[in-house]
Amino acid sequence: VRPAAYQHVVASLATMHGKQWPLKPLLRRRLGLRLVTADVDTDVLGTFTGEVPRPGDAEQVALRKARLGMAATGAEVGLASEGSFGAYPGAPWIPADREHLALVDDRLGFTLVESVLTTQTNHGSTTTDGRDLGGLLDFARRTGFPSHGLTVTPAGVDPAAGVVKGVHRLGDLLHAVRRACRDSPDGRAVVAADLRAHTNPTRMRAIAAAGRRLADRLATGCPGCGSPGYGRTGVERGLPCGGCGGPTELVAAVLLGCVRCAYRSRSPVGGTADPGCCPRCNP
Ligand SMILES: [Zn+2]
Ligand SMILES: [Zn+2]
Repeated sequence: VRPAAYQHVVASLATMHGKQWPLKPLLRRRLGLRLVTADVDTDVLGTFTGEVPRPGDAEQVALRKARLGMAATGAEVGLASEGSFGAYPGAPWIPADREHLALVDDRLGFTLVESVLTTQTNHGSTTTDGRDLGGLLDFARRTGFPSHGLTVTPAGVDPAAGVVKGVHRLGDLLHAVRRACRDSPDGRAVVAADLRAHTNPTRMRAIAAAGRRLADRLATGCPGCGSPGYGRTGVERGLPCGGCGGPTELVAAVLLGCVRCAYRSRSPVGGTADPGCCPRCNP
């Protein structure tokens, strides 16, 4: 085990949106890693407001952003994050945010993406013709405005044509809504939570949580080869039912693996499943 694998190592963080604020002190403290911000245009790999579609899934985009930062700074180690906003798995009525944090390590020759899933998120949008001020202000309040930013786009047009981002003041919001309604073919504006990290403290906390998870993993050495980054690679389902002993869909074991060698292990969670979760006892 080499817990000091990242001591004094300089790594780039590709971000235009202040992600260094939580990640820099955290990774310094936990790993001794020195983060330099690579101010590269990460918007070329997709924007939340839709002007640029995201090329590929969030993990791939996070890895590509990390590479952009490494190319810009010459660092051999690079990090980047990417968020995915949608519904909680299996519960489509609950909004969720999955934050991916990617690490590319060209010194040791591996890549790693850790993620956290949280229901602490404010993503959502509303469409307004500008007349229902109460409804607009109610939406704004629910998204955490004004500490959380909003975006305003004319309804029914290409978002690239007129999106206003980072709206944090009531006067700016009302002005942007009036303009967007005027520029929209159907006279309406789409107001949405601004999901960029620096305008969204809730998302920034989720990115910090992903940072803690990545730091934990990088601080864990492989029992086989000593490489950093040993940790969870998946789960095995089939926890036995407490009633009939048959397999259920619940997690029976956590699978652990190394990012560099073939070492694998299986950590059983123990216990039994409630018969209420069993397809035979409770079909
Ligand atoms: Zn190993
Ligand atoms: Zn059963």
